[in-house]
Amino acid sequence: MSQQSLLKRLVENAMDFLSHSIDEFDEHPKYSVIHFHAAVELFLKARLMAEHWSLVVSKRKDPDWDNFVAGDFLSVTLDEAADKLDKVVRSGLTKQEFETFRRLTKHRNKMVHFFHEAVSAEENEKLRRAIAKEQLTAWYLLHKLLTDRWANVFSSWSAALEDIDKRLRKLHEFLQVVFDQLGPEIQKREAGGAIFRDCPSCGFRSQEHSDEIGELYETQCLVCGLTDKCIAIECPDCGTEVVFVNEGFAKCDGCGRDFEPEHLADELIDDGAAHIAAMEGDDSWQPGNCSDCDGYHTVVRLDDGDKYLCASCFGVFDSMECCGWCNELNTGDMEHSYWAGCNFCDGKAGWDSDKDD
Ligand SMILES: [Zn+2]
Ligand SMILES: [Zn+2]
Ligand SMILES: [Zn+2]
Ligand SMILES: [Zn+2]
Repeated sequence: MSQQSLLKRLVENAMDFLSHSIDEFDEHPKYSVIHFHAAVELFLKARLMAEHWSLVVSKRKDPDWDNFVAGDFLSVTLDEAADKLDKVVRSGLTKQEFETFRRLTKHRNKMVHFFHEAVSAEENEKLRRAIAKEQLTAWYLLHKLLTDRWANVFSSWSAALEDIDKRLRKLHEFLQVVFDQLGPEIQKREAGGAIFRDCPSCGFRSQEHSDEIGELYETQCLVCGLTDKCIAIECPDCGTEVVFVNEGFAKCDGCGRDFEPEHLADELIDDGAAHIAAMEGDDSWQPGNCSDCDGYHTVVRLDDGDKYLCASCFGVFDSMECCGWCNELNTGDMEHSYWAGCNFCDGKAGWDSDKDD
């Protein structure tokens, strides 16, 4: 058996669990939670498998190929998988993804150990609504991972994933009552200047946005609880408002222009302040590099001057330091950078070894 066919088997299993989880939602919510969680774990393992099969084996046991194909091995937990995705595959989960998936694990464990049938119809409805929120937000993040960041691994299954996506989004019916109840509250907030947009996870017009331009803010969906970090700008080509969600990539609805982190950084940079500072020999307003996401010149100093924002991963930092070797500003710890370099140079050590070649 090849690594490729094992990957195929893992993904098909993950789809199968998801499919069951959707079918069971109404009648058997407990199994829906358990199977949904299993599917998420399997997708993360599949991503590890695409890198190397041994990553799927828990570090509590040595990897052994014969045992592995026989299915006789201890597989990684969600925490271990997240750790390896970050450190080995170098395509880790965001904090938002990790925390959302982790909540699923907690809930699953509670279901397995303490679930008791709901006694009243009302209690039943409450339970289904809680699960619908949880699965919609987790699926929103997982679906994006599989079809976007990890598309190169999962593209062969895009049709099946679209099918699951359609079926899973039907869960939002269970949240209609929540949205209806929120009607007056949403109207009140709109009257006060808040802007509501369609929530990408539950589909209701219940995601509250700020009307500030060029500032990082947190949105929250009043129905499903999804929270995202956003920045809105005016498209420099057509003036339409473009909202960036959690990352520096977006498309303008007005003219179709595609934005990347470097464009967003350009928009956010305070040209006036940067220019005056540069004239005075102060380079701290120059764009820097992000050690969290490896963004090149994506970190800009915010207007008030005491915070720095990465236009790629939306990380916020208190300071930047110069790399001792290449002199670029960087968000990471630059203490040993003269010797070891930064994410964008190899330092003196790299320089010396190049000379030896
Ligand atoms: Zn929502
Ligand atoms: Zn535009
Ligand atoms: Zn970053
Ligand atoms: Zn450097």
